[in-house]
Amino acid sequence: MTVGILGGGQLGRMLGEAGHAIGVDCVFYDPSPDACAQAFGELIVGKYSDEKQLRIFAEKVELITYEFENVPTDTVEFLLKFRPVSPPLHALATAQDRVLEKEFFRSLGVATAPFRAVENVDQLNDALKEIGTPSVLKTRRMGYDGKGQVVIKKESDAAAAWEAIGENPAILEGFVPFDRELSIIAVRGKDGTSACYPLVENEHRDGILRVSQAPAKNSAKLQGVAENFATLALDALNYVGVLAIELFEVSGKLLVNEMAPRVHNSGHWTIEGAKTSQFENHLRAVTGMPLGSTEVVGESVMVNIIGKLPDEHALSEIPGVHVHLYGKTERAGRKLGHVTLTKTASDRALPALLEKITKS
Ligand code: AMP
Repeated sequence: MTVGILGGGQLGRMLGEAGHAIGVDCVFYDPSPDACAQAFGELIVGKYSDEKQLRIFAEKVELITYEFENVPTDTVEFLLKFRPVSPPLHALATAQDRVLEKEFFRSLGVATAPFRAVENVDQLNDALKEIGTPSVLKTRRMGYDGKGQVVIKKESDAAAAWEAIGENPAILEGFVPFDRELSIIAVRGKDGTSACYPLVENEHRDGILRVSQAPAKNSAKLQGVAENFATLALDALNYVGVLAIELFEVSGKLLVNEMAPRVHNSGHWTIEGAKTSQFENHLRAVTGMPLGSTEVVGESVMVNIIGKLPDEHALSEIPGVHVHLYGKTERAGRKLGHVTLTKTASDRALPALLEKITKS
């Protein structure tokens, strides 16, 4: 079976790698001729608006999925004329707009930070009066890895914050004084069955994920709550594929921050740390195969390699280490690879060491 993947970054690359093992060939579509996924399948280069190239891509594959959530919905609508696309278009459209996304979770009875849609600086001032400070102003669309957002500490910072995010349609969110950040990776098959991986604890720096610990410590009570959130969302969206949900834990309660309708950085540990990786399960779901077991095979810690390539030799000396490099060149803030530690995960000194080695 041949699956088309919109986006040819590292997530596509790891989907392609997982596909090899289960007889699924991947063809990637990306505007960049350097897209790193091409190591694991044919790459069609074209803009997301290039109907000629998109059609060539569609004709090479039996069905289409995507590996990043900013794929233009127009592109998906065009491709749907030729091939099935999953996860479904409405899941993509909801995830692309932080206001729709939060309204969606609220409609399911799932808690989020308080929020207001903001179209101009006057509305921002009104929203600040309602929500108070500190709060976070984010662009409604196209935000990722902490880009397009600014913390507002006092009301008089409103105009500067509005300018800082580029005067785009925005959302003002109450600042959540979270105890920790968690995520849950869930998957739903074509037959409607779903499964979840255990909760993962995530550490971000400058808005970018640095370290994930799986399973999250002391999360037994929260697991059921998070699985319920995920299942509600999956079923409401009639979803097919992997869905990641990012959460804040505050005084033992969970709030949803956002969802990603795709495989997710906080699920990379599943390659070594679970019976079936998120990548394989995404391909199983979209191709209509039964889902694989999401059971873990031990504890894992995943550390992202950001900006600067590590000394591979030094890393390979650490027992239980699995290094994944994405074939990208160094650039500040760029995700170049990740390292997963298995079994030794309870040793907190080791991730700290790794982080040092891989520090950008
Ligand atoms: P996001 O782009 O929404 O994933 O935000 C990136 C990071 O900013 C999150 O992982 C949090 O660390 C932080 N953050 C985002 N929204 C809030 C919020 N409402 N309150 C506190 N921290 C936040």
